[in-house]
Amino acid sequence: MEVKKKDIRALTKEQLREFFVKQGDKAFRGNQVYEWLWQKSAYSFEDMTNISLETRQMLEANFVINHIKVDQMQRSADGTIKNAVRLHDDLIVESVLIPTATRTTACVSSQVGCSLDCRFCATSRLKRMRNLNPDEIYDQVVAIDNESRLYHNRPLSNIVFMGMGEPLMNYNNVLKAIDKITSAEGLGMSPKRIVVSTSGVPKMIRKMADDKVKFKLAVSLHSAIDEIRTSIMPFNATFPLNDLREALQYWYAATKNRITYEYVVWDKINDKRKDAEALVEFCKFAPSKVNLIEYNPIDDGEFQQANSKAIDMYVSVLEAHNITVTVRRSRGKDIDAACGQLANKS
Ligand code: SAH
Repeated sequence: MEVKKKDIRALTKEQLREFFVKQGDKAFRGNQVYEWLWQKSAYSFEDMTNISLETRQMLEANFVINHIKVDQMQRSADGTIKNAVRLHDDLIVESVLIPTATRTTACVSSQVGCSLDCRFCATSRLKRMRNLNPDEIYDQVVAIDNESRLYHNRPLSNIVFMGMGEPLMNYNNVLKAIDKITSAEGLGMSPKRIVVSTSGVPKMIRKMADDKVKFKLAVSLHSAIDEIRTSIMPFNATFPLNDLREALQYWYAATKNRITYEYVVWDKINDKRKDAEALVEFCKFAPSKVNLIEYNPIDDGEFQQANSKAIDMYVSVLEAHNITVTVRRSRGKDIDAACGQLANKS
């Protein structure tokens, strides 16, 4: 009977060192292999050229490296790149590289599909199949970093968890991936350049505050009126706005970090002055920034982007209350790579 081999990247550095000691080798060998696995992102044991053939064969007999594979890469006219990424069990997730004049941002997935039911988001139509492992999240970032160097002549500068899935519903693995991304033994990126975006899971926002995480938080709000928010994001019935705001107050008290809100203004849904005023009321407890993002239609036309008058109204109401507001243009729409369009279409 074939023994199921263990995923070597599920081991910590210490566990890997212990493994080698048990094999009668030096603990240091664990450090070398660890470096190959993470810093050098090796796809196979064969690549580990400073490890003896005998040791590589022993590793091969005991472990697998479940590296992701970029199945398909699409490039948009605006420089955006979308990767369809194949996982070891043949499931697919997507990640995106978004270049601007000053930064290149990786937008990565945290789950295969999503268990939330935001009615305007293409990913919500895919069933949540499973959580991504820390190494699968890490690999997406490495793949985008390589593409950034290759096609844009610069390393990746920022990461947003705005791909498929709800990162706070895969919290432990997201945290482990970020640890690796920010550690000197991984990519050495600053946590201040990482944004975790959530639909708003109050319990997990409190946990993030307790864990004293160093990355930034963005909340996909879209409405500050319960009835409207529940109609477009039905899970809001379980996590109503009041609970969300209390959790955010807790987060702000602990971190003193400004809170960013993602917000789409839709025609006849949330385009009235009372909607903008409710938003001000919701976020005035802490320094806040509102990103008004462009809606990316996902076929049936039920949701329509509001006209520029409505956007201007939001900007003036927010600015009158000293809330920072930016109006964001979408990127990569021609390859279905924009926010909410990730649905494994090609
Ligand atoms: N679950 C997380 C992260 C994934 S969604 C979250 O909700 O934050 C990433 C962002 O894209 C969110 O702000 C989401 O509200 C937004 N989004 C989803 N569908 C969209 C669409 N069709 N057009 C524009 N933005 C969309």
